[in-house]
Order: sequence, then C-alpha cells, then structure tokens
Amino acid sequence: MYTVCRLYGFVAMDGLKAIVIGAGIGGLTTGIALRQAGYEVEIHDRVRDLRPIGSGISLWSNGVKVLNRLGLGQKLAAIGGNMNYMEYRHLSGDLLNHISLQPLVEEVGQRPYPVARRDLQNVLLETFESAGGKLTLGAKCIGILEGFSNITAKFEDGSTSTGDLLVAADGVRSLLRQYIVGEAIEPQYAGYVNWNGLVPISTDLGPADMWSIYVGEHKRASMMPVAGDRFYFFFDVPLPRGTVNDVANYKTELRKHFQGWTEPVQLLIDRLEPETVARVEIHDVGPISKMVKGRVALLGDAAHATCPDLGQGGCQAIEDGWVLANYLTSTTLSVPDALRRYESDRKVRTTEIVNKARNRAETIHGKDPEVTQKWYDQLAKESPLDVTKAIAKIISGGPLH
Ligand SMILES: Cc1cc2nc3c(=O)[nH]c(=O)nc-3n(C[C@H](O)[C@H](O)[C@H](O)COP(=O)(O)OP(=O)(O)OC[C@H]3O[C@@H](n4cnc5c(N)ncnc54)[C@H](O)[C@@H]3O)c2cc1C
Repeated sequence: MYTVCRLYGFVAMDGLKAIVIGAGIGGLTTGIALRQAGYEVEIHDRVRDLRPIGSGISLWSNGVKVLNRLGLGQKLAAIGGNMNYMEYRHLSGDLLNHISLQPLVEEVGQRPYPVARRDLQNVLLETFESAGGKLTLGAKCIGILEGFSNITAKFEDGSTSTGDLLVAADGVRSLLRQYIVGEAIEPQYAGYVNWNGLVPISTDLGPADMWSIYVGEHKRASMMPVAGDRFYFFFDVPLPRGTVNDVANYKTELRKHFQGWTEPVQLLIDRLEPETVARVEIHDVGPISKMVKGRVALLGDAAHATCPDLGQGGCQAIEDGWVLANYLTSTTLSVPDALRRYESDRKVRTTEIVNKARNRAETIHGKDPEVTQKWYDQLAKESPLDVTKAIAKIISGGPLH
C-alpha cells in the first residue's frame, strides 16, 4: 500500500524494511532518506564504538544540497567552516593563485562546507536515530542470503536480519562487494600517503576563511576552516605502499618530507598533535561493472572509493543515498527494478568522478613529473573564474542541480 510521507512528500511503501550494512557517511545518509520515506531501517556496523576515520572532510555543494533536502541545512551550516577563498602557494610561500569562492556559490546556489568528521557523524547519527532508525554496533555482516521476496544479512555472532532490501555501504574494503560484482576487487593504491588532523585556527597559519594549499615536490600541505575555530589540515606525500605507520614518528616524518617549506607549514607541523592525526595510504576502487544484484545495492566507497583529490568521495556516497531512496519511492514495479534504475543512474556519475579523481591524484603527485610541472605552471596562470567553473561543473552533475 502506498502513502504520502507527510514531511518530505515522498511516496512511501508502508511496511518495507531496509537493512543497511555500514554506518559511515553513505550508510547514515541512506538510512535518513529511507526512514523519512517511511521505511523501517536498521543500520548494522561491525565497530563497537563509532568513530570516523580521519579528521575533516570538505562537503562540496552537491553533497550539501542533498543534506539540505533531507532537512539538515541548519545543522550543517552550524558545523561548516566559513570558507570564502582558496589560495595556491608554492612551497616557498610565493602566491600562485588567489580564488574567491563567491562566483562558485552564486553559480551552484549553495556554499561548500568543510566540516570535522566527528561533527558530521554526530549530525547524521542524531538525525537517523531521532527519525526512528535503529543502529546496531558490534554487528559484523559476514554474508547474505537472497530469498524469493526478501533478503537476509548474516552476522558474525550468528544472528540474522531479514528485510526487503540490503544496502552494502561497508566501505573501501567491502566484504559484500564480491557478492554483487561476482569477483574480488582489490582497492588500488594511489601512490601517496595522507596525514590529516585538526589544529586551532591562528593567523600565522593562514587566514581564517581561506583554504590554503601549498604545493611542490609532488606533495601538498593544506588547511581549511571548520566550525569551532579549527583548521582541518592535511599533508600528502608520494611514498611506496607499506611504509611504517608509527604515531611517534609523524612529526619527524613530516619535518623530513617538508624540509625547507615555508613558515606556516613548519608551524603546522609544530602544532599538530600526533595522537589525533590519521595517517592513511590512499586507495580507490573501480569503476566496477555492477552496483546491484537482486535486492542488494552497493553504495558509497564500497562501490566507488575515490581518491580524495576532488573532495568528492563522501559527496558521492551522499548522492547515492538520495538517488537510491528516490527510485525506491518514486517507481513502483519492484525493489529489484528500483535498484536497477539506481545503478544505471549512479554508474555514469560515479565512473566519471572516480576516473577524474584518479587522474587528478596522478597529476598532483607526480606520476609523470612533466605533467605535474605543467600543473604547477598552469596554477600560476589560470584565471580564478576558470577554477571555480571547473568545480561548479562537477557539483552540477549531482542529482539536485
Ligand atoms: C584522506 C581522505 C580525505 C577525504 N576527503 C574527502 C573530502 O574532502 N570530501 C569528500 O566528499 N570525501 C572525502 N573523502 C572520501 C570520504 O571519506 C569517503 O568517500 C566516505 O567516508 C565514504 O563513506 P562510506 O559510508 O561509503 O564508507 P565508510 O565511511 O568507510 O563506512 C563504512 C562503514 O562500514 C563498516 N563496515 C565495514 N565492513 C563491515 C561489515 N562487514 N559489517 C558491518 N559493518 C561493516 C565500517 O566499520 C564503517 O563504519 C576523503 C577520504 C580520505 C581517505
């Protein structure tokens, strides 16, 4: 039986139950969208304590628009950093390009928000739970049983849960991906390591409303404002896979890799607190051939982990959740039919983003040093409007134009 959901105008299928595996950005956004559409929603995550990996994330306007549409606009504005400008500088500190983000905001109709991951997770979690969603932690999904008219998730502790559809939002090392794609797909190392964390904003690091990016030697050091007078910072360094990850060495490593770089970069290394820093070898996934099988849909990094060089991986997971909920609530043939529509919509968009982000990662991190040098040269010459237009083009490819 179909009813109109009072708050959001969706056509909802009463009594249908969605099982979501993974309580990351993708799983939680999907949980909220489906809950608001009238689904019973269970999210299961293997961890006992839900803590985001990494410190900050830049939510570009395409992701923000979806969260606005889910009713989170004010909460997001409260946790979002006031980022009005971007600046590229050479490792010496020399200015390469100063870019106002105002033309971008005017073109796409929404500010981007850099946010602390913990803040974003709190907002998503609180919204999901207050909408009546159920979260179970310490629940590692180890398999799926597809019935004729339902789907069952099996968990490590022997328990099971049965529903009308299952969303596999289990991240870059997804266990459930193989069930859908039919073969094991190993994430691909992007060739560089990223350190990220939060430090208090101070003017000797950079202006409080600026995303500052220092480039050189195929590396990056970057800071952007988030709420609470903090900069979310990151460092990128091309390194072979499997270098030692020892928190006691972070400062020494960074001092070595960024030796001779300008003063704010040195100050940033001095001020960071290693115990709160994440050190990640960057991987991506795909493009993959399939995103759905029967009543099971892959979503977010499980389907298309994306090099962070476009700042779009999390935004794509958010878009996925929205699009999936839309097909499930606007088409009425069957759950597998709605999932097929989700797949054909999202494969095009996410394939383009994964490829673009990998390309950009290679350009930034010196896969071909000549290409990287050309990029440095171009940064100094590029018109700021061309930069914001290129970002707007990516944003405008999202489901909410
Ligand atoms: C350094 C870095 C910077 C980034 N910067 C940006 C940015 O600026 N902007 C942007 O949009 N994106 C960015 N991203 C990408 C973004 O972080 C990811 O795309 C996003 O977090 C993916 O969310 P997800 O929900 O798909 O997966 P995840 O966040 O990985 O969540 C998966 C969840 O599934 C759970 N899980 C896994 N297996 C199981 C199982 N078998 N059973 C139960 N639970 C399971 C995990 O515990 C986890 O909680 C960045 C990524 C990195 C690494």
